[in-house]
Amino acid sequence: MSLKKESHLYAFRFAKCPHCHHGNMFLYKNPYALAHMSDMPESCPVCGRSFFPEPGFYWGAMYMSYGLTVFSSIFNVLLIGLIFGFEIEPLIIGNTVLLILLFPLFFRYARVLWLQLNTPFSREAFREAEEKEEKEEK
Ligand SMILES: [Zn+2]
Repeated sequence: MSLKKESHLYAFRFAKCPHCHHGNMFLYKNPYALAHMSDMPESCPVCGRSFFPEPGFYWGAMYMSYGLTVFSSIFNVLLIGLIFGFEIEPLIIGNTVLLILLFPLFFRYARVLWLQLNTPFSREAFREAEEKEEKEEK
C-alpha cells in the first residue's frame, strides 16, 4: 500500500513535517539510535516551519505517549494471554518487556502526533516543496 504524500497518515508514518509533508522531523531515521532519539532540527529543512513553536512544547507529547502505551498494553496483554494463557505474571512481565522494546517508537510517534495536532497542513507549502524537489531531481 502506498500512501499519498498529501495524506496525514503519510506524514505520520514517515515522521515528516506536518506543514509541508516533506521535511524530516528527526535528524536520524532510525528511532532505535538511542543516543540521538530526540535530535530534531529547530525548524523544517524544507518549508522552515518551526518544530518548536513554544518553550516546553513537547511536554504535551507525554499525553500522546500515555495513550499509545495504554492502547499498546491492551493489545500486548491480549496477545500474550492468547499465546501463554491469562496468568498474571507472564502478562505483566511480557507487557513490560514489550513496552520497553517499543519505547523508542512511542517516543518518536508521540512527538509526531503532538506536532501534527498543533500544526495545520498547508497545500501551498506542500506544492512549493514538491516544486523544490522536482528542481533538485533535474
Ligand atoms: Zn515543512
